[in-house]
Amino acid sequence: MELDTLKALYVEGLRDLYSAETQILKALPKMKSGATSPELKQAFEEHFAVTTEQVGRLEEICSELGISPKGKHCKGMEGLITEGADLMKEDADPDVMDAGLISAAQHVEHYEMAGYGTVRTYAQLLGYDEQAALLQTSLLEERETDVALTELALTVNVDAIAKESPTTGGAKSA
Ligand code: FE
Ligand code: FE
Repeated sequence: MELDTLKALYVEGLRDLYSAETQILKALPKMKSGATSPELKQAFEEHFAVTTEQVGRLEEICSELGISPKGKHCKGMEGLITEGADLMKEDADPDVMDAGLISAAQHVEHYEMAGYGTVRTYAQLLGYDEQAALLQTSLLEERETDVALTELALTVNVDAIAKESPTTGGAKSA
């Protein structure tokens, strides 16, 4: 009985993550075009490739469970992406926009880390060891992305601070 409940929660969590990942796949190219720093653009591009693999892992797990990964809409991710989209509508200095985009992306990564950590543990408890290993891989990727974004923020945020003194103006690159 209790296992049934945990299994149901597990499936719910997998579908929630699948919805979250497919939503962020659509948002990442927009975040890339909203960014100015070449390093940040590259980080978004790389995470797009990583996210595609994560979607594949969720599909693989759902296929093993004999269920569809579809059927749930992740409202949490929708909210985080909306906040990022609202930010991109602002008329911000490029360095300040980059700093804001990093913050938006880190909110997304932490949300995903919570989701993957939860389903990873459910998978372990339910005895799905291979699925737990796949989910752990995705969790570590999200963590690595978060760490990389923190490192990027150290330079981008400093540039944003420097904007407080008069400059010749930041060049807008494509
Ligand atoms: Fe992800
Ligand atoms: Fe991610």
